[in-house]
Amino acid sequence: MQLQVLGKRGINMTELQTDNSNMLLCSNCFEDEGLRIDADKIGHESLDECPNCKSKIGKKLSKDLIRGLAWRFFVSGTTIRCNYGAAPVIQTNEHHYGKSNICPSPWLENDIKLIEDTARIGFFHYGPRLWMVGEVEPLKDLQSESKREAIIQRVIQEYPERSIPRGTKFYRLRVNPKRPAEPMEYDSPPVEFSGNGRLDSSDLSVMYGSQDIDVCIHECRASINDDIYVATLKTSQDLRFLDLTHVLEEDGTEFESLDMAIHMLFLAKSHSYEISRAIVKAAEKAGFDGVIYPSFFSLVITGGHPFETSYGLSLRRYHPERERYSDTYTIKNLALFGFPLRSELVKVASINRLVITHVGYQGHFGPVEY
Ligand SMILES: [Zn+2]
Repeated sequence: MQLQVLGKRGINMTELQTDNSNMLLCSNCFEDEGLRIDADKIGHESLDECPNCKSKIGKKLSKDLIRGLAWRFFVSGTTIRCNYGAAPVIQTNEHHYGKSNICPSPWLENDIKLIEDTARIGFFHYGPRLWMVGEVEPLKDLQSESKREAIIQRVIQEYPERSIPRGTKFYRLRVNPKRPAEPMEYDSPPVEFSGNGRLDSSDLSVMYGSQDIDVCIHECRASINDDIYVATLKTSQDLRFLDLTHVLEEDGTEFESLDMAIHMLFLAKSHSYEISRAIVKAAEKAGFDGVIYPSFFSLVITGGHPFETSYGLSLRRYHPERERYSDTYTIKNLALFGFPLRSELVKVASINRLVITHVGYQGHFGPVEY
C-alpha cells in the first residue's frame, strides 16, 4: 500500500493512488448493498462497459481502488473499540491471496471472490498485537492507583511546555445559558457543576475551549434543538500550557510507550476520566495555566482510523513523517484551570448566537459477520 501524506484535515492518509487506465470491476458488480454504495463513492465515472458485469453506469474500479475498498470495508469496517485501543477483526494482504479464511454472509461470498481475484489479495482473521488493545505498560500503571503517581510525574516532566502568547483567540460554546449576553456566563462552570467532564473535578474547575468552532459543537454534543452561543475569548497575558498533544520521541516498543498511553487515554470514554483528571491536577500543581489536549472527536472530525498499523507496527510511531501524520489526525483543544475570566487571564472579545442548520454524518460500511 502506498501512503500519501497530506497535511490537510480530513484527508485519509491511506487514500490510494488511482490508475485510470485499467478498470477491472464496477460498483454494480457487487451484491452486498453496503459494498456497492462504498464502491460507488470511490469509483470513477466512465461509460465504458465493465469487463466483469458489462454495466456501463457502474462506477469503475482499478486494482488500487479495489484494494482501497477492501481495506475500508473489511478492515476499517470490522474495527472494534476496546476500553483502551481498537483493532480490526479482519486484515487483508497479498500474502494471503488464495488463502482467505473468513466466513462472510452468503451474499458477500461472490463479492469477496471478485475482490480477491482482481486485487490479488486474501482476507484473514487478525490476531492484533496486544498493544493495540491497551496492553501498554504506562497505561496499565495509570489504571493502578498505587502506580499512577509515578507515571503522572513522567507526564509532567516529559511533555513540553507551550507558551500561548497574549492576544490569542479561541472559542467557548455554551448550550442554553441563562443570560447569553453576560460575559461571565462563559467562565468555567461553578464548582457545584464541576466534575462531570474529562478534565474538571470537584476541586479543579476547568474552562474548555478550542480554536475551531466545529470542534466546540462536537465537544458540547450540541444539537439543532439547542439554543447555542459562542464567546470569542482572547488571552490577556502569555500563558503556560502543558502540551499533551505532542508526539514524544521514545526508544522501545509500543508496549512501553508513554506516548501511546496518553494517545489512547484521550481517545477512551468516560471510564478513563479519573486518570485524565489526575493528570491535569498535577499540571495545575506544577504551575501551568492549562493543558493542550487531543480531542476525543479527533478521529471523527479528521476521518482518521484508530491506532492504524502497517504489518503490526503503529504508524503513529513508525510513519516516516510521524509528526505530520499525527498532526493530521489530532484536534488540539485548550483547557484552562480555575476561573480564567474572573481572574482576568482571558477576556471576552465578542459573543454570538450560533444557529445550526445542518448536522452531517459521513461513514462507510462493513460486514455483519465474518
Ligand atoms: Zn461491474
